[in-house]
Amino acid sequence: AIAAFLKTEQLSTAGDLAEGIARELLQPITSIKGFAQLLEREDQTNSGYFAVINSEIDRVVRILRELLSFSEPKFSTQKAENLISLLNEVILFLEPQARIANVRIVFDAPTEIFFVDCDRSQMKQAFINYIKNAIEAMPKGGILTIVCKQLPGRQLSVTFTDQGVGVPKEFLSKIGNLFFTTKENGTGLGFSVSKRIVETFHGTVKLFSKENVGTTIQLIFPSSGTIKG
Ligand code: ADP
Ligand code: MG
Repeated sequence: AIAAFLKTEQLSTAGDLAEGIARELLQPITSIKGFAQLLEREDQTNSGYFAVINSEIDRVVRILRELLSFSEPKFSTQKAENLISLLNEVILFLEPQARIANVRIVFDAPTEIFFVDCDRSQMKQAFINYIKNAIEAMPKGGILTIVCKQLPGRQLSVTFTDQGVGVPKEFLSKIGNLFFTTKENGTGLGFSVSKRIVETFHGTVKLFSKENVGTTIQLIFPSSGTIKG
């Protein structure tokens, strides 16, 4: 069914693909989980095996849920969105999570208002992923600095800079590969899906990182206008 879905559907965005796959898989996985639990009840001799089955199924479900969180209205809209207000909303949303992790988010917004042609909810999802990764990279807490600025040539730059664990050199080329994760409970979806979202709206993603110093993710978008504030 998935192969058919991939062939026949018009895959306009990462969200369509993610939602389609996740919906196809969630049902059979849930049924497998149910039958595994039934078997476990009848068979007391293999509880070690069932523990592995259960935790692996949970991992698959976690990945599918994350994929579903990228789902979007069928027709993704594209209009000039105020990037500053979008970032303010996302920061407000993640503030509790940051506080629990002892992370202070510093947003250095310019006085102008930046507009970028995009789908608001998709772009928010992308920003949420970068901020979550930054928080997760600072297990002892720290400062996450978000800077918005205008570059020469009508381009807008958004950077997320953390003081986290950084990315070891040998992993740098792998970040952004689908399902690549260095976290015990990671899915390896956030970065690659976010990159696709940003690229859908004609942006680029750059990663600068130094192990044990920190990471900067820079997004560069073509501007669809600014208003002096
Ligand atoms: P996940 O967060 O589930 O591991 P992602 O796709 O969001 O998946 O990230 C993939 C990997 O990229 C992470 O496991 C981590 O190794 C690395 N990474 C992403 N962002 C950062 C960051 N800000 N600091 C350090 N490593 C990062
Ligand atoms: Mg992540």
